[in-house]
Amino acid sequence: MFDKIKEEYLSLMEKEKLPYTKCKTCGYVFFYPRDFCPKCNSRDLEVKISEGKGKVFSFTKFQGKKGETIYGIVELIEGFRMYANIFGDVDIGDEVVVSFINDSGRKIPVFKKK
Ligand SMILES: [Zn+2]
Repeated sequence: MFDKIKEEYLSLMEKEKLPYTKCKTCGYVFFYPRDFCPKCNSRDLEVKISEGKGKVFSFTKFQGKKGETIYGIVELIEGFRMYANIFGDVDIGDEVVVSFINDSGRKIPVFKKK
């Protein structure tokens, strides 16, 4: 089950779609792929596709070799939160949209200011 969810996540992200998981028992939504609901432990889960729109919940700025990098938590309109790199000069509460970048041959979600 866990591998199936992980595979589904990877194939959706390859198509530049942002997956998330919804618990069919209690309705809880979460991003990090796992085979049970972190709230009620149910294994009756379904993978869904997010619209990719959200707001900056919190962030930290890092000064790296390639300039400033922002890493933060984005709260998606579907109600789940996820960690990601954020591009642009953002503040808490700013609206962001998902975008995908290539990272070691794999597509990973990042967010950009709307
Ligand atoms: Zn649940």
